[in-house]
Amino acid sequence: MIFSIDVEDWSQSVLKRSNPVSDRVYANTMHVLDILSANQSKATFFTLANVAEKFPALIHRMVKEGHEVASHGVNHHNIDAMTKAQIHQDIEHSVKTLEDISGKKVIGFRAPNFSINEDVFEPFCEALAAQELRYDSSLFSIPVHKYKITKKYSLDTFKKFGLDEHYLTHINVAGQDFPFFGGGYFRLFPYAMTKYFHHQYDKNAVFYMHPYEVDTGELAEIKKLYQDIPTKWLITQFVRRGAVPSKLGRLLTDFEFSSFENTYYSEASSLRPQKYIEKSGASCTINESLVYTI
Ligand SMILES: [Zn+2]
Repeated sequence: MIFSIDVEDWSQSVLKRSNPVSDRVYANTMHVLDILSANQSKATFFTLANVAEKFPALIHRMVKEGHEVASHGVNHHNIDAMTKAQIHQDIEHSVKTLEDISGKKVIGFRAPNFSINEDVFEPFCEALAAQELRYDSSLFSIPVHKYKITKKYSLDTFKKFGLDEHYLTHINVAGQDFPFFGGGYFRLFPYAMTKYFHHQYDKNAVFYMHPYEVDTGELAEIKKLYQDIPTKWLITQFVRRGAVPSKLGRLLTDFEFSSFENTYYSEASSLRPQKYIEKSGASCTINESLVYTI
């Protein structure tokens, strides 16, 4: 299974994009790295360029400890709200920033707020391919209305650009599909529920979380700093953060996790996508087994 973390600062990336990146993202990401290290697990860190620029030591530690550094954009602006030129600019700047700091090639991307749809697939894939990325992990294979994912999209556009799409994992309960493996679902529900559905997670399952989900001190601080916090976020975004570190420990004990890079793109990986030649003669990669549903 894949363990993925979207590295962003709550007050900047969720509350208001114009807020400064706070020091909390540094301590929180270090805390997540500590938990992974204690459990000898590797992960993919989809990191914002604004966090990497402010705290390069985070990137250095990720690389040193064998994790994958991937891109989550520059400032957490939604891809589907950008022009074609802005999409190119955002992805190029974020990838170059992460590569400069990490000294390693970036091969993966996750869109802020899972904000891609068919209208932007073409420029989005062009921008990923221009930076020689290998994969994206911004979609669920089910409709998720809160992320404006209205249907299961065709991945033909991704394939055309030689990109793999790694869907985030969902579960099916009484005929209804839910994105359950990570984020607020993992935080709000008892760990026993995450474990209960284990038969619905396969080896391709993708777990996701954010560093701020281990931060129990943030609510008091942001209430002092900002007065305009929507009530729905006070209810949903801060509840049960204190339980997350121990739940992560149990998750990492019960299941085997690694990064996208180790799992699919390293020389040693048995799941490495097969090379094939398109009719046009252009060489690209594809792995049909990555396109799965649970
Ligand atoms: Zn994000």
